[in-house]
Amino acid sequence: MKTQRTIERSVRGMKTSDGAGVKLTRVIGTPVLRRVDPFLMLDEFRSDEPTDYLAGFPDHPHRGFETITYMIAGRFRHKDNHGHEGLLETGGAQWMTAGRGIVHSEMPEQKEGLVAGFQLWLNLPRKDKMCEPGYRDVQAGEIPKADLGGGAEAGVLAGRVGDVVGPIAGRETDPLYVDLVLPAGSAGVVPIPKGHAAFLYPFEGDVVVGEDRTLARGELGILTDGEEVRVAAKSGAARVLLVAGKPLNEPVVQYGPFVMSTTEEVEQAIADFQAGRF
Ligand code: FE
Repeated sequence: MKTQRTIERSVRGMKTSDGAGVKLTRVIGTPVLRRVDPFLMLDEFRSDEPTDYLAGFPDHPHRGFETITYMIAGRFRHKDNHGHEGLLETGGAQWMTAGRGIVHSEMPEQKEGLVAGFQLWLNLPRKDKMCEPGYRDVQAGEIPKADLGGGAEAGVLAGRVGDVVGPIAGRETDPLYVDLVLPAGSAGVVPIPKGHAAFLYPFEGDVVVGEDRTLARGELGILTDGEEVRVAAKSGAARVLLVAGKPLNEPVVQYGPFVMSTTEEVEQAIADFQAGRF
């Protein structure tokens, strides 16, 4: 019998805006939930009102961590100062390793319709913070699906669910990034490495976690430790983000888009950026 994870604590995100004025909900990285080590931030964006997203995220820097953008609906174009360019489309993802420094823009490539998705910030271990920047575009078709029975399935962007292995691997934090799709009446059990910090975020419908704990749409549920979690659709269909990673247990000093381990390293990041060394 595997040990079951359940909800230890749940929080709701806060409405805010970022970039040039994109409206979003910040779920991790708020005064009530600063971080879930190794995760530094989670934003949900969802709007069919173009004025909420058209301004996009013009050129801005990052150093010391990774950004994972997952598009539920809509199209965004990414361009960076290292010559990478990619189009993020519905169901696809972008895994960007800022490392020692990147300057990029993330702009909507549509003038109407729904734009929805997530951006997650994953910290890098101190020894890797100054690594070469990297970038990986993952198209929707490259995200394999694990069959959980009863119509439930899990899209695996990173980590593994049973024999299904996601395209992103080779991180010290061993991240698991899963999109759980639960038709009405279905449930899925997903293994999560013991010791990993883990959370659930229902973004369509409400779910029941473990025996009887309801987690509503828009509530982030931080999980207790254990080897697996059972998630069931509560009434109608549901869709849930499940994310887990091995905590780094290292000091974090963050100043906006620079996430380092000491104040001196953050000052160096600002100086390097201002001097055009990204
Ligand atoms: Fe960015």
